[in-house]
Amino acid sequence: MLKDYSECTVKTLKPDNSKIARAIGTRSKYWQEGRTISVSFMGGTQPQIDLVKQGISQLMGFINLRFVYVVDHGDIRISFVEGGGSWSYLGTDAKYVPKSSPTMNFGWLHPSTPTDIGTVKHELTHMIGANHEHQFPNGITFILEEIKKDLQHWTDQDIINNIIRQSDPSKVDTTEDLDLNSIMLYAFPARWNKEGISTKVNTDWSQEDRKFWSNIYPKKDKYKEALQRVYADKNIVDLLKSTHTAVANILGASYEGREQEVIKNIKHEISKA
Ligand SMILES: [Zn+2]
Repeated sequence: MLKDYSECTVKTLKPDNSKIARAIGTRSKYWQEGRTISVSFMGGTQPQIDLVKQGISQLMGFINLRFVYVVDHGDIRISFVEGGGSWSYLGTDAKYVPKSSPTMNFGWLHPSTPTDIGTVKHELTHMIGANHEHQFPNGITFILEEIKKDLQHWTDQDIINNIIRQSDPSKVDTTEDLDLNSIMLYAFPARWNKEGISTKVNTDWSQEDRKFWSNIYPKKDKYKEALQRVYADKNIVDLLKSTHTAVANILGASYEGREQEVIKNIKHEISKA
């Protein structure tokens, strides 16, 4: 069980803006939507690197950020120092870390057969601006003395920063309720808090996690890309032209030539929906 409590710690550079919060994201630490973020590895075995890449590829499946791999000095620099804990800087704080230092570490991924994809996904979600689920505003009241019994290798400050401290609701975006399936939730026993809430180990993004983060980084260009592919196909251009004309007629553009304008308006309406 101890390993469950060795959940990651999150590092922040500017404490004023980074109150730890719920799916919770710190608004001031989000990356620019649609941005390409470069990733480099500082050491690590091929299986470890492959596991992280697997997590990144899944993350890109539902958010509008792109990750590319570079040999050195990426925006995100990932190390695998055993005994160094698993942690990540919060969102764009990574920008202010010296290029010679990692912005994320995996301290317990097995070198030859790593399986802990849950920790990978947890740290990657810190990287895009996520706080711990158990630290939502006006939420769980944790008991330091009880936590200390289990986390003897943590300082009081670590426990306060990563478990006890609740967020300032004015600085974070949150979901409606505590999400017990969130990848950002620690696994802990009921005696850790006054409410008697116990949690399990989560190893994947919950439905709420996915919904929340795809709202923060929406893939709204999906429709546009699909249309571009359609328009690039010469075989269906004629068909589209006649369709445009028909649509234009239905919508009251009575002469040839106005259909483009009508289609544009329709696209605009769809993009707002
Ligand atoms: Zn964490």
